[in-house]
Amino acid sequence: MPNFVNIILPLPLDKRFTYSISEAESVYLKPGMRIAVPFGKSKIYTGIVAELHQIPPEVYEAKPISQILDEYPIVTQEQLNFWRWISSYYLCTEGEVMRAALPGAFMLESESIVQLKKDAEFDESELKDDEFLVIEALQNQSSLKIKEVESILDKKRVLPVLNRLLSKEIIVLSQEIYEQYKPKRVRYIKLNPEFDSEKALHSLLDKLSKAPKQRDIILKFFTLKAQTAKPVSAKNLLKSTGASSSTLKSLLRKEIFIEYHLNEDRLDFDAEITRNHIEFNEFQLNAFQQIKNVFQEKSVCLLHGVTSSGKTEIYFKLIEEVLNQGKQALYLLPEIALTTQLINRLQDYFGDKILVYHSKYSMNERVEVYQNVLKSSGEPKVVIGARSAIFLPFKNLELIVVDEEHEASFKQYDPAPRYHARDLAIVLSHQFKAKTILGSATPSLESYFNAEHGKYGFAELNRRYGNVLMPEIEIVDIKEKHRKKRMKDHFSDRLLKEIENTLAEGEQVILFQNRRGFSPILECNTCGHSPQCPNCDVSLTYHSHSNQLRCHYCGYNIAMQKRCMACHSEDISTKGFGTEQIETELRALFPDHKIGRMDQDSTRGKYGYEKIITAFENLEIDILVGTQMLTKGLDFRNVNLVGVMNADNLLNFPDFRAHERSFQLMLQVAGRAGRTKKRGKVLIQSYNPHHQIIQQVSTNDYVSMYKEQLEERYTYKYPPYYRIIKLSLKSRDYNKTNEAAEWLAKAMRNSFKQNVLGPEFPPVARIRNEYYKNVMLKIPQKQSLSKTKSIIDRILISFNSIAVFRSVRVIVNVDPI
Ligand code: ADP
Ligand code: ZN
Ligand code: ZN
Repeated sequence: MPNFVNIILPLPLDKRFTYSISEAESVYLKPGMRIAVPFGKSKIYTGIVAELHQIPPEVYEAKPISQILDEYPIVTQEQLNFWRWISSYYLCTEGEVMRAALPGAFMLESESIVQLKKDAEFDESELKDDEFLVIEALQNQSSLKIKEVESILDKKRVLPVLNRLLSKEIIVLSQEIYEQYKPKRVRYIKLNPEFDSEKALHSLLDKLSKAPKQRDIILKFFTLKAQTAKPVSAKNLLKSTGASSSTLKSLLRKEIFIEYHLNEDRLDFDAEITRNHIEFNEFQLNAFQQIKNVFQEKSVCLLHGVTSSGKTEIYFKLIEEVLNQGKQALYLLPEIALTTQLINRLQDYFGDKILVYHSKYSMNERVEVYQNVLKSSGEPKVVIGARSAIFLPFKNLELIVVDEEHEASFKQYDPAPRYHARDLAIVLSHQFKAKTILGSATPSLESYFNAEHGKYGFAELNRRYGNVLMPEIEIVDIKEKHRKKRMKDHFSDRLLKEIENTLAEGEQVILFQNRRGFSPILECNTCGHSPQCPNCDVSLTYHSHSNQLRCHYCGYNIAMQKRCMACHSEDISTKGFGTEQIETELRALFPDHKIGRMDQDSTRGKYGYEKIITAFENLEIDILVGTQMLTKGLDFRNVNLVGVMNADNLLNFPDFRAHERSFQLMLQVAGRAGRTKKRGKVLIQSYNPHHQIIQQVSTNDYVSMYKEQLEERYTYKYPPYYRIIKLSLKSRDYNKTNEAAEWLAKAMRNSFKQNVLGPEFPPVARIRNEYYKNVMLKIPQKQSLSKTKSIIDRILISFNSIAVFRSVRVIVNVDPI
């Protein structure tokens, strides 16, 4: 009987592929194992076995697989089911889900290797220069990768050269698969078993009495052994004895010590538990009990708790219970809230039961966490991570915590799958019959709506821990202040006064401005021209530190201009302002204080963000200016004043969520003030002090905001009443983009009538020289989602078969945010 496997390849191709396998392979292979398979003319890909069967494919002849890469499945059946769900819900392929779900290092890549042909005969004088260079290199080393050939010839197009050499039969190509993941090896030391007996050991130590350094190392080795059951690493031994590596070397040479190597488990840190008890206050106790009651009958509970009310402590307790049952928990956070602050807090309580999965980790570190979760299926662990941690190979998951559930960064924007990790958390926990807790001080309208309608349970915390009052919020009308000439740069007299008071008390200040750079726009006062990015439809932003004009979409930059580029007038000025400008103004206003800045520009690099937070925590910074990076769940003890420099540019953003977002953002930054000691103060500067959102922020009135926004959503047919699927078309050709968008919108209208909007250009309609146009579908609650999606699928298949639109890509975004 013939045997076949269906496999998932990490490609945007819409189906599983069938390959043939031998009888022996069919016995060995299991779903979830990786295999390498030939694909196309010469490519080799890593695929995941999805199923084994005996039905030959109808339209093509199944090729045999190349190689089995695993001894055991690295993807669980639960994951395969989950992937399938995601691909059908988010209208993407399983291969795209696979790419997002597995650490890159798991996907073996094929790479061509060039070698000299054995016994090749050729006349060197007949070779062209570039051919000669390649041959010369191959005479010195047995094989070259394409990349190496490129660098030898110092050009990208090397295949023609290699083709000539191939046809002259001087070289051969071979595909070599290599595993990208290389575990880190650690050197360990043990005593030669010869000296295991006490007698042998004593005589050894006697013998070494003339070599006290060597003797010391051996004694220290025993001390270390006695302290922990773990093997002793060479590094650790040298560190704790202070001995030189040459001393160790001579002991190794004499074979008194023996060295051996093990794969380092980077995650097996010696985390010490320094806290073993959480004592709730009465409000936490109530909320905790509420959540437990909800979980008796519902699988999801929303915890609405004001900033600093002790939500995190409640998660800890819930997680602890799960670990005590010997099960797994997942703690999801927005990327940026995943700080050492929180990780340390978790470690203090859970010790080495925590695993951290972070996108800033290297590929190898990610593989280790993945393997650790896979292998620890029996052990209780809590995994903490940003959105992609949802894809780890859990086995007995019992609880998912989604902290700051309103955060937009839970949604993957690019590439597909464009998933929302909060929503996937709920799907995954259904799959495991686990529970999900969604927590926020400013829940998303969707989640609050679901709680209101009984789909989720609900628990509340209205008070800050330790009875610290919620900060006092004052609104400053800057139109009025301008009129009365009470502004200094971008600071009102009120804000300056409060900053002075706060600094005088030895406390810290946070200032929030939702734009990075110095000022968004440079404008000529003579002709009105402002410099634009040549690749995108946006104005360039002035950055004073680098004295450059930069594009925030594609990174294009030029030196700052002294004259208008259009009319050469020198009368140019800046409009709007960013974090850099606030920082500069502060330095002049408060020359004796230390000013820091936190935005995308100042936090590059693996620890850039951490460094600024640590400096602020250690009181090395008095005033911290930043973008929304500042809003995310940070717990600073000494901040007593928060200033919002300009609330209006948040509110005026052209998006149906702009008001909800502004509310969340302002309340979250406000929440950084006065968390532990006395009541904090928040000043919001605005040209529109009577705007309903600003009023609702000032009274901390989530429910009013919710009700009012909900009405708008109902009137204008937006979530949570309607679902949205956004189709974005893009191409390098303006006209093609337009025509394709018209075609698509028409096709959609045939099926969905007036619920199709567009085509419409997005606010930035050209990015990196690609033109964008959107078509939006609104789906009423009673309309079948799966039917809707299969219609869209069919429309997209027709679209893709139209030759003139071949260069136009359609990006499907389900539930865009
Ligand atoms: P939230 O997550 O709601 O913003 P946190 O859990 O971070 O609030 O709590 C705010 C502060 O109060 C933290 O410094 C935390 O350590 C402290 N805290 C909260 N609950 C307790 C508790 N039960 N025992 C001791 N400290 C607590
Ligand atoms: Zn001009
Ligand atoms: Zn650009």
